[in-house]
Amino acid sequence: MSEDEPITVSERVRSVPPSGIRRFFELAEEMDDVVSLGVGEPDFTAPWRARQAAIESLERGQTSYTANRGKRELREAIAADCEARYGLDYDPDDEVLVTAGASEAIDLAFRALVDPGDTVAVAQPSYVSYVPGVVFADGEVLSVPTRAEDEFVLTPEALSSVGAEGADLLVMCYPNNPTGATMDREQLAEVAAFAREHDLVVLSDEIYSELTYEGEHTSIATLPGMRERTVVFNGFSKAYAMTGLRLGYALGPASAIGAMNRVHQYTMLSAPTTAQHAALTAIEECGDEVVEMRRQYDRRRQFVLARFEEMGIDCFEATGAFYVFPECPWDDTDAFAEALLDAESVAMVPGDAFGAGGEDHLRVSYATGFDDLRTAMDRIERFVE
Ligand code: PMP
Repeated sequence: MSEDEPITVSERVRSVPPSGIRRFFELAEEMDDVVSLGVGEPDFTAPWRARQAAIESLERGQTSYTANRGKRELREAIAADCEARYGLDYDPDDEVLVTAGASEAIDLAFRALVDPGDTVAVAQPSYVSYVPGVVFADGEVLSVPTRAEDEFVLTPEALSSVGAEGADLLVMCYPNNPTGATMDREQLAEVAAFAREHDLVVLSDEIYSELTYEGEHTSIATLPGMRERTVVFNGFSKAYAMTGLRLGYALGPASAIGAMNRVHQYTMLSAPTTAQHAALTAIEECGDEVVEMRRQYDRRRQFVLARFEEMGIDCFEATGAFYVFPECPWDDTDAFAEALLDAESVAMVPGDAFGAGGEDHLRVSYATGFDDLRTAMDRIERFVE
């Protein structure tokens, strides 16, 4: 601290580097004619009826806070949706919490459930928020790499270090960002058995649950003995293309949701009211739009996978979210991504930005219009040739 610079940033915050994804966006922003396969958000607009519900709520003057946990009607709709989809029964009063994006739910879970020094195992490659979230909660991160050979599924072998280190929590995300991997019921059953045996609490980020292309999504909370030790994160950003409305939710046992609400009621008060109106209509009336967006993502997924195969680039068959995770043709993924951007104006994100296991790969998002996607794949082909 000095007189010129009286503000000292906390050590905790200084220890977290800026997001590895952002650097490529900044480079891409300075260039013309860039096709970005780097984005992690839908290129679609939220369904019209959801937007209309938001507009109408404003016309009615509904600009106040809601209940801390979210509008009861919305919590009921979320619980009903979960029951219909998975047969999982959550009490809207004390087992559902509406948050400002799944992001807030993730942050709340760490702050409410992690004591200083607790070990949080994070299955990687993973979405970039988990590790900083654990650090901000003064927890210790144990990274659990998954492997390309296993199609980035979390296996009992991958989990062996978790038992040895005596972790308290496990964070996992399927369908996965950045790999596009999904896990079926049998694979999840092995993780569930491990969690029960080692008394692990599971934080399951299922925000891409609606974007599953082969078979139905299975929530790990549906496996025997898991509902009571799992907090599920989900939200409206991906399935309903509502990223900017900032609305998500957490489902879990009353003890965990109550603790998360304790933090939420002081730090957020309530999730955005206008967005809650949009979300209620989305969940109740916009299922057809979700089906149509999923159809379009699937068409793009198959196109991108086929093009990588034609180019001779190894890419496992991702079956969820809107990412594929090809192996990088060069040893240095950063150098490849920069050279591709420079030569062909196509942006993608080096896999190491997502932690252990991603080092030799690139994240390619197909949340981009089909024409742009075709242009990008043509350019990549020219570049690798
Ligand atoms: N989890 C994952 C795996 C994500 O990819 C994202 C968004 N990129 C989020 C959570 C955050 O979503 P939200 O917009 O609901 O905060």
